[in-house]
Amino acid sequence: MCSISSRWQLPHKLQSRRRSRILRAALQVPPAIVTPGGAAVADRPAPAASPPPSAVANNQSLRSTWQHRGWVTAGCAAVAVAAVKSAAAAQESGLLAEPLIAAAAGYLLADLGSGVYHWGIDNYGGAATPLVGAQIEAFQGHHRWPWTITRREFANNLHALGKTVAVALLPFDLFPGNAAVHAFAAVFAGCIMFSQQFHAWAHGTKSRLPAAVVALQDAGVLISRHQHAAHHRAPYNGNYCIVSGVWNEFLDGYKVFEAMEMVIFFKSGVRPRSWSEPESAWKEEDDERSP
Ligand SMILES: [Zn+2]
Ligand SMILES: [Zn+2]
Repeated sequence: MCSISSRWQLPHKLQSRRRSRILRAALQVPPAIVTPGGAAVADRPAPAASPPPSAVANNQSLRSTWQHRGWVTAGCAAVAVAAVKSAAAAQESGLLAEPLIAAAAGYLLADLGSGVYHWGIDNYGGAATPLVGAQIEAFQGHHRWPWTITRREFANNLHALGKTVAVALLPFDLFPGNAAVHAFAAVFAGCIMFSQQFHAWAHGTKSRLPAAVVALQDAGVLISRHQHAAHHRAPYNGNYCIVSGVWNEFLDGYKVFEAMEMVIFFKSGVRPRSWSEPESAWKEEDDERSP
């Protein structure tokens, strides 16, 4: 049975004194209780499955397969059906404002959803986690070799989210709904599916990206290169949103994820990976990409 002192031990490898101070103040825990060891730790990431830099150039794991293309096509079809149903319903009703507002809400909430999901798989679980184990492993590999995402082929990069969107949205498309509901579904699911493409562009070099993409990044419509670069720097616990990044300032400023991490820690004893030292699995290795 676990003693009160071990149950309430705070994590000892927090990234900064500032964080420790804030946590102790928020929880009114005296500094003396902050000792090493204690509660269970979230699974340390296994050695990343992504290919090492030397193997990147011709690595088959970065190529798209017909299965990848099939899932991305199915996801796009699900989004297209929702968009067409929304347009048809809007034409029939003569109402445009509602679906446009719903589409804007879908775009904004997709950014928030991408952040929550990214935070979850960056910090908890491992390769053996049901359903999302492969995504967790892939994101750990991404933290180690971030630039490989720019060499990943389109369908290879999007197929996991394409599959999720296809499975979740196609049945929903079959139900009758008003223009606003279908507009929300189409934009939300579309942005979630393409968030990995926006993410890849955020790792791109400005001179190599299409001018329109750079313009959208600079306007804040898509996640910017500058903002996402901060996610890959210590203390590795912010800027999780990867659609537009519009939520990042709010979430990081109000320490929303840190609060959620504390709730999970005190409820279950599981620490997020971001509380650990940014050792090998988090730290970017030398970039061997060509100029
Ligand atoms: Zn991440
Ligand atoms: Zn990234």
